[in-house]
Parts: sequence; structure tokens; C-alpha cells
Amino acid sequence: MSRDTRYDVLFEPVRIGPVTARNRFFQVPHCNGMGHRDPTAHAVMRGIKAEGGWAVVCTEEVEIHHTTDVGGYVEGRIWDDADIPAHARLVEQVHEHRSLAGIELVHSGMCAANLWVRTPPLGPSHLPTAGTNPVQARRMSAADIADLRRWHRQAVRRSLQAGYDLVYVYAGHGLTTIQHFLSRRTNDRRDAYGGSLENRARLLREILLDTLEEVDGAAAVACRICVDELVAEAGLERAETEELLGLVGELPDLWDFMVGEWDFDSITSRFAGEGAQEEYVRGLKQLTSKPVVGVGRFTSPDTMVRMIRDGVLDLIGAARPSIADPFLPLKIEQGRFEDIRECIGCNICVTGDALATPIRCTQNPSMGEEWRRGWHPERMRPKTSEAKVLVVGAGPAGLEAAMSLGRRGYEVVLAEQTDDLGGRVAREARLPGLAAWIRVVDYRRGQLERLRNVELALGSPLTAGEILSYDFDHVALCTGARWRADGVGRWHTRPLVLADLQVITPDDLLGGARPAGARVVLYDDDHYYLGGVLAELLAGEGYELTLVTPEPRVSEWTVNTMEQHRIQRRLLELGVTVLASHALIGTCAAGARIACTYTEREQEFPCETLVLVTARLPLDGLADELTDVVVAGGGGPTVRLVGDAWSPGTIAAAVWEGRRYAEELDEPPSSRDQPDFLREVVALSSDG
Ligand code: ADP
Ligand code: SF4
Repeated sequence: MSRDTRYDVLFEPVRIGPVTARNRFFQVPHCNGMGHRDPTAHAVMRGIKAEGGWAVVCTEEVEIHHTTDVGGYVEGRIWDDADIPAHARLVEQVHEHRSLAGIELVHSGMCAANLWVRTPPLGPSHLPTAGTNPVQARRMSAADIADLRRWHRQAVRRSLQAGYDLVYVYAGHGLTTIQHFLSRRTNDRRDAYGGSLENRARLLREILLDTLEEVDGAAAVACRICVDELVAEAGLERAETEELLGLVGELPDLWDFMVGEWDFDSITSRFAGEGAQEEYVRGLKQLTSKPVVGVGRFTSPDTMVRMIRDGVLDLIGAARPSIADPFLPLKIEQGRFEDIRECIGCNICVTGDALATPIRCTQNPSMGEEWRRGWHPERMRPKTSEAKVLVVGAGPAGLEAAMSLGRRGYEVVLAEQTDDLGGRVAREARLPGLAAWIRVVDYRRGQLERLRNVELALGSPLTAGEILSYDFDHVALCTGARWRADGVGRWHTRPLVLADLQVITPDDLLGGARPAGARVVLYDDDHYYLGGVLAELLAGEGYELTLVTPEPRVSEWTVNTMEQHRIQRRLLELGVTVLASHALIGTCAAGARIACTYTEREQEFPCETLVLVTARLPLDGLADELTDVVVAGGGGPTVRLVGDAWSPGTIAAAVWEGRRYAEELDEPPSSRDQPDFLREVVALSSDG
């Protein structure tokens, strides 16, 4: 297959100062929860992006000095020479595939509470640090500014020693000292670094010049900048950015334009579509002669071409699309459009950063597993036997298991009781804002259709007897889970007595059932997206909705996907009453009985229907039946529960489980007593 000529423009080389990107695909810096703690895992992950055709592959933010310590988050570090080997390993992986390696240097200033190093954070002004830590940033003196410039130079020098081709000066996402100086929001200085834009931009200008001098043509200098802080005249806005480009627009070799904070830069698909940043970035490229990169969760080659043709961008920036599909550029180049695994915009990848755990991705189960488990996004080991495998259930776990087994070359039958592929994803993607999630199904459907060794049996509700009557060597039960209707979840671990009113679950709603009366209490003790989405659905349909949750905020866990504030805002705007820090404790003639989680003070809440979003139970009955027969009769297939049927979790977890089943089939069982993946352990100091 060859690519359509209309995409040729995407494969033109782009000169970035002293270096040349071989095409226009640019993996912008992104966090990954591995950073300095898991250097080889990180390096190999970046190398695979280069293998997949990204002409430039960057690190996440890399702390230039120990006075910029983001504590529990695991980012990159280049504090001193001891950090260079880890970076050199990453550069080596990227260079192996002819790509350019970029490093995003950061001084987080007032965004780092310095809890680890315990020195006061630095900032342009005396202001509390981001978050709620009882820590304030100290207003930087002239000596501090000189220190910062020297530290940045030292970090640039080390970056060159590690072999990087591109070095970032970072003033974006509200996360860096340079931006804190730039912005009226955080800079109240009256000296040469405060007041006018020219003064506030002084530090940026100085560090750009320092960096250019330090690299001395050995690497390109990129500047990532927030072009609009989205707080109007309270902070950086378009007019100032235009003025700024007049001041320093020709200094760096590349501009990386981003918008707002990270939650807007990586906005979930529930709240914005592809290219949401375009309206803010359009026209800025015309104010500089230097190339421009920007993001927009771009997965459509046509949108990418439009960005170039319309003069919005020169390079197609991507974090999430490169996570979901590290081989996106190569697939476009080879005209393999149906093989593109499009990002669904769920931000599960971001949770790795928020929770300081290795990055994971709903669409790409190999993300974060490249080194420690040896998984590759495109390749799998060939089968090692002629075994035939039955996969029961075509939700995300079953789809991934069948596809991955098929890729290994096994004969597979994927049996699904309904007439549709997708399980919970097919149902949930119909909910407000979740349409893009159907890509989990679409991608796998497309792949399965082309795998001749995988047979799809839709409309096939299988019983244990039927399964055993066939001649399969292995059976993967991917039969999913069901939502509980008894109130058991995190708050209540024993069933509640729920009489007198209609009780329905997410399964009922997804199956088409609706509340009997107008007044509905939705009790969310799950705390991820579903409670909030169902509240949005019902409020949108005109029900009078009260959302009760023991947590202080709705959809509490979505703080980690950076959308909690948007969800709560949307529900409030829809007229949903939010009763936070309250738990359902039972029912009464009038409706629901609710209690404050602090005072235990009770109140009766009139309603006709109770929607419970609490916990799920695996649908694992088939496993018991099969095991009984196999044990009684001896022989028979191996049987394993996979995905929600094994342990209810996220869609990402189900996909990952499906992949793991396929990876491990016919392999010798891994030790149950030792980690079954590689890890790096810190070398002990001789000073102990
Ligand atoms: P997971 O997230 O683990 O993939 P889902 O609930 O999304 O789980 O999908 C489970 C799928 O299994 C559903 O599509 C369901 O219709 C199907 N299924 C459940 N039991 C059977 C069965 N006995 N035979 C065939 N398909 C089944
Ligand atoms: Fe996209 Fe979700 Fe994967 Fe992140 S986790 S890259 S948002 S599909």
C-alpha cells in the first residue's frame, strides 16, 4: 500500500534551526509517570515512538535543578551529571530510528512545593504554591534570577552531553517560572522583571539567549509558550502574545504554542473535539519566520493536512495520539488508515502522571509495558502451538484478546451473545460526550475483519455445555460484570434495605430503562465518570435530579483525568442538585434516606427512583460451571476469566487484560512469587 499524494505534505522535512525533522510529525513533551524512576522503561517507550515515524520525540518536563522538585510526581531530572546516563539512553533509543530527541527543561518554581528538598520554592512574587500544600514561593532576588539562569545553562550543557538535538525553553501550562514571570497573574514585581510586558518577558528573553549561546548550533532551541491563559486580561492573552512575538519571535528555532493549562491542552473528548486549540493558535505563525508546532489530539490525516495548508502549524504536535498509536505517522505514510488506533480522549494516560505510576492507555495496552513486559504496539510473538482458542464475550477484553491472539496466528472464535461487538463500550459510547470511545471497538472490529484466523460468532449466547461440546484447547471468558442494585460499594460494604421505591442501575439505564417518576436520586459511590454522565443524561432528559455522593465532589476520581471541574460545572449548569459528603443509608415512604458523612445527621429526600452507581460483580458463573465439569471429567480446555469478569475495572484495564491473556498463552506460567516484569532498582550508595 502507498499513501495518497494529498498527504505528501505531512512527510516533507522541516528545518528547525541547525537540525532537520524528517517529516512533520512531532511528539511534543508529555509526562508518563516513569521519568527518573524508570529510566529504561521510559527510554524504550520513546524509542518505539521514533520507530513509528515521529520525526521528533521529546521527553516530559525535566527538572533542571533540585530547587524545582515536584515531589510525588515522577518527572524527568537533570539535576547534575549523575542524571546524564539515563538521558543518553533515551537519546540512543530515539536516534536508532533516525529521529530527533528533544528535552523539555523546566524550572517549576511556584508549581513545585519542594517537599522533597525542603527549600522554599522560587517565584516572581510572594505567593502560595499551586495546590493546597502549606507552602509559599519566595520572591526571587536578583541573585536568585542569576542562579536560575546559570542552572538553566548547566542543564542545557548536560542535555548536549546526553546527545539531545533539541532543547526546550519552557513557558507553558502555567507550570514554569518563566511563565510565572511572563504573566500578570503571578508577577507583581516593580523591578526590571515586572510591570510592562517587555519587563515580564525579560527572563524569557535572557534564558532564550543563554540557551542559544550554550547550544552554539549543536542543537535546536524550542520555546513552548502558553499563548492564552484563558483568564482574559488577568493573565496572558492573545494581544500580549502577539506583542511578545514582536519582542522575541525570532529568537528560538521553533515555537511550540499551547493554550491554557494542561487540562485544556489535553482536554478530554467529553468536553472538546479534535483541534480545539486552533482558534487560539491560528494567525500566530504569521508573526514569526520560525516553524510552529501545536497540538489538537490530531488523529485525522485530513485535519493534519489542513493545519499545514491553512498556515496554522508547520509541525503536527501530538502527545495523546502518539500514546494511543506510536505508529500513527508510519501508518499514514504507508496508506494504512484503517490500522490507525485513534486516541479516544479519555485521559487515562494522564492518570499515570497524577498517580505517579507508569503511563497506561485505553487504546494501546502496550504503553508503559514496552520494556518491562516486552510488549510492542504493533508486533507480537508468533504462536507456539496449534491450539484453538474460544473467546467468550466481545467487550473490550474479548475484542483485544481475540485480536491479539489472531495476530499471534492462533485459530480463534470470538463468540458474543448480542448482535453487536463492544460490550460495555458499545453501550457507554451512546452516553453524552462519550461518542469518541467507540473507537475502542471500531479499531478492533477493523482488525478482526482482516484476520482470517479469527471467526466472529455474533448472536451466540454460550452455555458451559456448549463450550465443552466444542473442541477448543483454551477458553477465555470475557463475559463482563453487572452493576449491583443493593447499595454495596465503598461506603457500605453490606447490602442496604431498599424498599418502597424504584431502584435502577447503570445496566438498566444503558439497556433503555428510565425512572418511573420525575424525581430521581442518583447515588454515586463509584466516583469515576459513569455517575456524572448518567446524571447528565437524565437531567438532559428532563428528570429532576439530585446526585448524592460520599465524596466532597462529583466524579471525584476524574481529578486524575483533569475533567472533574468541567463535569461538576456541567451538572450544575444542567440544574442537578449536588449533595456531596452524603451517603444513601436507606429508603422511606417519601423517597431516599441520606446522611451527612461527617455528622451522620439524617434527612429524607423525596424521590420516586433511586439510581445506584456503586460497585459491580463479575459475571463469572460460566467459569465455575466449566471448572466443575473439567475437574469432574478430567481433561478439557484451560479456562481463564479475563477483564471485568475477572475483576471489574476500567475499560483500559479490560483491554490490558485481554492483551495479557494473548501474550501469555502457551507461555510457561510466570512465578506467582516474583514480579513478572522487569524493574530497575536504585544502586545503593557506598556511603551507607
Ligand atoms: P469487558 O469490559 O471485560 O470486556 P464487557 O461487559 O464490556 O466486559 O463485555 C462482556 C461481553 O460478554 C458482553 O458483550 C456480553 O454480551 C458478552 N457475554 C456475556 N456472557 C456471554 C455468554 N455466555 N456468551 C457470549 N457472550 C457473552
Ligand atoms: Fe488517548 Fe485515552 Fe490513550 Fe490517553 S489513554 S492516549 S486519552 S486513548
